[in-house]
Amino acid sequence: MTRPRIERRVKEPPRFQRFKPVGIPARLLERIYLTLDEFEALRLADYKDLEHQAASEEMGISRPTFTRLIDSARKKVAKAIIEGKEIFIMGGAIYFRNNIIRCLNCGTIVPIDFESNVDIKCPNCGSIDFINLAQQFGFGKFHRRRRGHGRR
Ligand SMILES: [Zn+2]
Repeated sequence: MTRPRIERRVKEPPRFQRFKPVGIPARLLERIYLTLDEFEALRLADYKDLEHQAASEEMGISRPTFTRLIDSARKKVAKAIIEGKEIFIMGGAIYFRNNIIRCLNCGTIVPIDFESNVDIKCPNCGSIDFINLAQQFGFGKFHRRRRGHGRR
C-alpha cells in the first residue's frame, strides 16, 4: 500500500526560477533541480532564521522531515555554487498559500489572490504586463486550496 503524499505548505512562489553562473551558456551547464519544498525550507531556516521545529510547523510537516529537506536543499545549493551548475526550481508535492505576480517592466512584486483576475496595474510604473509566478511553477487559477484562510 502506498502512503498518500502530503502536500507541503509553501508561503508563496519563488520570485525567480533559475540561477546560473555568469558567462556560460545554459546549454553547457548541468542543471540541479531544487524542489519548491526545499526552496521553502531554505527560506524559513536560513533566510528567516526559524528553528527547525517552528519551520516544520509552518510547512505542515514533521521536524525530522524538515531536517532532511533542509539538508538536501543546502547540499544542492552548495554543489551548484562550488561546481558552477544551474539551479532550476521546480516540483515537489506542495501548495502555495499566497500568489504573487512580478511586473515585467520594473520588477515590482504584487501579492494577488488566487481567485482574482490579473487585471491590475503596477503600483510602481503603471504597466499591466505581469508574470503570474504560481502559474510559472504550474499552479494556475484552479489552485484553490485553503481559500478560506487569509494571508499571513
Ligand atoms: Zn512596474
